[in-house]
Amino acid sequence: MSFLRGDADASTIFLTVRFIVIKIMIKSKAVMQTGNYDLAIIGAGPAGMMATVRASECGARVVLLEKNHVPGVKLLMTGKERCNITNAETDVQKFAARFGKNGKFLLSVLSRFGVRETIDFFHRNKLKTRVESDGRVFPESDRARDVQALFLRLMRENNVALLTDSRINNITRREDTIEKIILDTGEVSANNYLISTGGLSYPGTGSSGDGYNWAKQMGHTIVKPGPALTPLIIKERWVKALEGVSLKDVRISVYQGNKKREDGMGEALFTGVGLSGPLVLNMSKAIGKLLAGGQTDLFIDFCPETDFQMLDETLLRDLKEHGNRTIKNILSGLVPPKLVPLVLELSETDADKKGNSITKDERKKLRSLLKQFPLTIEGLSGFDKAIITTGGIALKEIDPKTMRSRIMKNLYFAGEILDLDGPTGGYNLQVCWSTGYVAGESAAHKGRDGDRE
Ligand SMILES: Cc1cc2nc3c(=O)[nH]c(=O)nc-3n(C[C@H](O)[C@H](O)[C@H](O)COP(=O)(O)OP(=O)(O)OC[C@H]3O[C@@H](n4cnc5c(N)ncnc54)[C@H](O)[C@@H]3O)c2cc1C
Repeated sequence: MSFLRGDADASTIFLTVRFIVIKIMIKSKAVMQTGNYDLAIIGAGPAGMMATVRASECGARVVLLEKNHVPGVKLLMTGKERCNITNAETDVQKFAARFGKNGKFLLSVLSRFGVRETIDFFHRNKLKTRVESDGRVFPESDRARDVQALFLRLMRENNVALLTDSRINNITRREDTIEKIILDTGEVSANNYLISTGGLSYPGTGSSGDGYNWAKQMGHTIVKPGPALTPLIIKERWVKALEGVSLKDVRISVYQGNKKREDGMGEALFTGVGLSGPLVLNMSKAIGKLLAGGQTDLFIDFCPETDFQMLDETLLRDLKEHGNRTIKNILSGLVPPKLVPLVLELSETDADKKGNSITKDERKKLRSLLKQFPLTIEGLSGFDKAIITTGGIALKEIDPKTMRSRIMKNLYFAGEILDLDGPTGGYNLQVCWSTGYVAGESAAHKGRDGDRE
């Protein structure tokens, strides 16, 4: 028995009509359907949808419950709506290493359904992909909604019961077995259950941390959640003037006192209140820890391939060659134009001074700012701007081969709810695909009647 709602491409009128019909069906069926499913999955994000598709492919009768109107709301926002599906790093060890010490947990699921298998899965299901810089893999169409549409199609083909607008309020247990799910509209029971409700980041997408509470009630340990891959807030208010300025191939170094604590090269972006971009997001977790220890300063090197001496020679040459041009004009070739007035102001150099009248002292100050542009970090943005959540269900309480709880016999977990967070570049969605696939397959193979062991 299944009751499916329309996919994202359907017309609004059609959707509205179907929503009404489905709501009615949910109301009655949710109460009546107790015990008819092999697997009930809570949360239709990437992890829940992959688990649903795999379990149903394996022959399980699956019900997928989602509180939003549509599945995959956060998925639609990924990669600036282009969806960075995965990363082309196919070496399982290297991929797992990007998740720090917790990455070891991923070795088993990555061996079963890793990057290669994921890309094959998308290709097999008619979604072509393209690899971009740093191994980032995107749909060839550059549309996250094509990824969502693929899952909706597969769920429809596999007769999955998809209940949207279905907020789960609670889950009940009997000893070490989940008994049923309580919704506003009734109850659902199944032989096995999977929680894939995500973390706490971008709560507007539906990730409100409900899964943590249920897992805790079931005896699981929750490693304290925190925002990760999150932009920095900068103390100097003049960064507002730089909003939208994107920096390619810069080096960012983070200091406490005189000690360099973090360092990296890549892309950054000025926001209205600070800094973002892949390089900054990837450094944010380490910076968060440093901030707890006191004042933390950040320096941008706009010319990382050139040392101080070489940059001085370049400046000297440019000032001579273009002696009749203003310094603001000359500097525009070295840093983004919006930054020029700030560099000149901080170096106390008259913007309209001609290149041939810049003093040695002024040149040295300019050189220092181009190599070490100083900013004070005030803090990290919160969950509302974090790409991912650190912390989550403690991994030691989950079997890494099956994603099954070691505490509750018929409970599985997948996706961001787990205590795993990787860098930008497609790593975090791959965790959803791998853990979702394995959890769905394991739960399906556990059998219709539920193996009570
Ligand atoms: C702006 C942004 C861009 C990103 N870009 C990328 C990218 O390009 N590549 C990448 O790898 N990662 C990216 N990420 C991270 C990635 O989106 C997440 O890791 C991923 O969505 C997590 O999937 P999930 O299925 O675990 O959880 P989620 O996507 O959070 O889905 C959980 C679902 O559970 C539902 N739910 C929660 N509570 C309940 C309840 N009580 N009852 C019913 N349903 C419930 C929610 O409504 C939600 O639909 C991005 C994140 C953000 C915020």
